[in-house]
Amino acid sequence: MCSFHYEAEVTFRLAMPFHLTRIQYDQIVAQARDEAPLECCGIVGGRGDQAQKVYAARNADKSRVHYTIEPKDMLDATRDIEDVNEWEISAFFHSHPASDAYPSPTDVREAVQSGYSECSRFIIVSLLNPEKPVMRCFWLRGGIVSEEALVVAGNERLGA
Ligand SMILES: [Zn+2]
Repeated sequence: MCSFHYEAEVTFRLAMPFHLTRIQYDQIVAQARDEAPLECCGIVGGRGDQAQKVYAARNADKSRVHYTIEPKDMLDATRDIEDVNEWEISAFFHSHPASDAYPSPTDVREAVQSGYSECSRFIIVSLLNPEKPVMRCFWLRGGIVSEEALVVAGNERLGA
């Protein structure tokens, strides 16, 4: 499912943070708040290092500590991203309502099992401090956690 050359992409991405617009950032945080104390989840369609659209998805698990993107929502988002717009699945996002914005061992394992760890980022928003959400972006290639800086339009840099 990855279309680009692996080594070239590694070299490229190290120099390039991932970009979200303020509206996209706010959309993810708002969804996390709306669905707390359950985990929320969704998909980010994009091109290169720029997010184009945030797709909210239902968490089929309805859980405080785990998420599974509802298969119908995954299918609809994938069609719009890849077939309609010819973008890429840039990232998957989910919330940690009561823990840090860092991938759990389960997050890493399931990302690898899904196959998407090799071509998509994983964004986590923590509501541990509800007044101050923290959003961070990771690559989980081969099960190795590697943070990528997030830039929200307006040059506010989050995470690494
Ligand atoms: Zn998680």
